[in-house]
Amino acid sequence: MRRFDLHSHSTHSDGLLTPSELVARAAARGVDVLALTDHDELSGLAEAGAAADAAGISFVCGSELSVTWEDLTVHVVALQIDPAHPALAAGLEAIRSGRTERGRRIGDALAVAGIPGAWEGARRYVTSERLVSRTHFARFLVETGHAKEMKDVFRRFLVPGKPGYVAHEWAPLDRAIGWIHAAGGQAVLAHPGRYKVSDSGLRRLLADFRDAGGDGIEVLSSAHTAAQYAQFAALARVYGLLASCGSDYHGPGESYLDLGDLPPLPAGVTPVWSRW
Ligand code: AMP
Ligand code: MN
Ligand code: MN
Ligand code: MN
Repeated sequence: MRRFDLHSHSTHSDGLLTPSELVARAAARGVDVLALTDHDELSGLAEAGAAADAAGISFVCGSELSVTWEDLTVHVVALQIDPAHPALAAGLEAIRSGRTERGRRIGDALAVAGIPGAWEGARRYVTSERLVSRTHFARFLVETGHAKEMKDVFRRFLVPGKPGYVAHEWAPLDRAIGWIHAAGGQAVLAHPGRYKVSDSGLRRLLADFRDAGGDGIEVLSSAHTAAQYAQFAALARVYGLLASCGSDYHGPGESYLDLGDLPPLPAGVTPVWSRW
């Protein structure tokens, strides 16, 4: 059986490995089909694709789009997109354009909370000029001893109600799905178990996502427990959505699961790749 890992990050967003290093690690760890899904970016895909060809593994062009649904930030993974499609490229450019200003505001909010120099500190971790992420602030907060590890940062900082959180409006859900479809791709709701919503909110999100044309959800994700694997397999069937799987790997020492570490999809779901 082929081993799929359809969610990963490189230095073109908030990952620690270059696209070539990421592909080499995936190949060495037995991944047969890898998608690179950098946040709101496509710029790493050419290098990753060439590296995958050289390593003899299959490569899927992807991205992870930042979306605002109701008051919540959700992530939509795009798979099998044409990276040259102008509508998608323009949409991603629009999403990215707010990130630097948001980063400055995160720095201001942390300064107010008694942590000066965070903007400059985070910028030292930024590896793609237009792609400032909370992850870069999280690395700074670990470096300066304000948190033990990444997980600890996202419990105590940078999230709603905590120091360093700033509200930000990302792309509307239906527009993001529209760009992905225009570029020939599938839209997959990323790590649905991670969102802080009630049961009814989750059902509304899944229904809205499907009604907006969404294709699938991540059933297997490093953000999910084994119980959530079963829960989201059942929900994929109920909502008529395809099932995807991805480690959401960001780099050595930082990720909950390594590349290729996910189990096979649960029985009874239809994989996203059944349409490829
Ligand atoms: P941003 O797109 O700038 O809002 O940053 C979101 C990124 O922060 C995610 O893609 C993860 O890399 C990271 N992140 C969010 N929550 C967590 C968490 N609980 N543990 C580790 N990393 C997280
Ligand atoms: Mn990330
Ligand atoms: Mn995500
Ligand atoms: Mn991700």
